[in-house]
Amino acid sequence: SEDVLRVEDLSTQFFTAEGQVNAVHGIDVRLERGEVFGIVGESGSGKSVTARSIMDLIEPPGEITDGEIWYRNEEFAEAVVEDRPEAVDGTAVELRSVAASTREALRGRSFSMIFQDPESSFNPSLTVGEQVAEAVEVQRRASARPRSGRARTRRPEYSFGSYAISMALPSSEYVTGESRERAIELLELVGIPDPAERADEYPHEYSGGMLQRAMIAQALAGEPDVLVADEPTTALDVTIQAQILDLLEDLQRETGMTVLLITHNLGVIARMCDRVGVMYAGEIVERGTLEDVFDRPVHPYTKGLLDSIPAVEDSGGRLQPIPGNVPSLLDHEMGDRCYFADRCPKAMEECLNHPPEFDVAGSDDHATKCYLAEVEYTESRALSKDYFADEA
Ligand code: SF4
Ligand code: MG
Repeated sequence: SEDVLRVEDLSTQFFTAEGQVNAVHGIDVRLERGEVFGIVGESGSGKSVTARSIMDLIEPPGEITDGEIWYRNEEFAEAVVEDRPEAVDGTAVELRSVAASTREALRGRSFSMIFQDPESSFNPSLTVGEQVAEAVEVQRRASARPRSGRARTRRPEYSFGSYAISMALPSSEYVTGESRERAIELLELVGIPDPAERADEYPHEYSGGMLQRAMIAQALAGEPDVLVADEPTTALDVTIQAQILDLLEDLQRETGMTVLLITHNLGVIARMCDRVGVMYAGEIVERGTLEDVFDRPVHPYTKGLLDSIPAVEDSGGRLQPIPGNVPSLLDHEMGDRCYFADRCPKAMEECLNHPPEFDVAGSDDHATKCYLAEVEYTESRALSKDYFADEA
């Protein structure tokens, strides 16, 4: 299947008063259209920064300092190619090479994001229905915009999407009856009971799980190509978590959208994902299909994570598989060694002196950043324990 999104050599840094934080360093991520790709790692490993970088939501003192983000969309490529031919390759557009307003246009319509904490994403003084309807309205106006429009508030370069419309939403008085109806449909789609009545309730009248559903409804207003879900169930209790994951699975299947799922929870990854990337200290240290990574892990960190599953469950799902912590990325010298060396049971001299290269092994694209990769690929295939069979 084709790649809808390809992130190449992405680095994001934060220039704080305390120093420079290398939150994400040289990562590659490829999302196939219609798949669920998971990024798993401990907190502080750079998962959320990766998601926010893709969504173009990094704000000062943060900055994407390197890399390319290619988004494949024929209509968008056509709209961009005249003004920025250098940003277009076939039907793909390199997003860092287009104007910020153009990237902004993609938010909601091409990329949508849901977060861990729905409470803070809703305005407490507007009803849930109004807020979902606003999202509908923003996307509706954006796509209704004529190709050669009249007075525009920003440079009228592209006719694709809502480039001139900020996600600072219009006040609810502009919301039309049509948008309200669509909002109720969306609330129904995400499993809100009696959606027409519940649309008139305020966020505080919703439970956490219901509010997470409403946030998903908002994210779906623009029928996005890619839904980025950053720890979407972490704040919810286990039963509700499972219901939200069921919902995401159903919606993904029905709409064919691509999902980038960020989580520290290996159970969520095992259940939801087609392919997975394991993040450690701002890098992806191993990636591949779910079976590659879970049945035939190669990186010592991935192995540690998987070995720790019972311990993870005992500790309420928190990952602390291997003694020690993710190194602070403040003033961290990037690219000088393997960042896992301090915790790695197999560390060797060279691990401390040079960074290992990403090694792509054999079939598919199972790849690992570790000196032992080649040996391990062979060994782990031989010893491959069937993780999923054990579970069943
Ligand atoms: Fe361990 Fe060395 Fe591999 Fe890093 S490169 S994970 S320190 S063996
Ligand atoms: Mg996070």
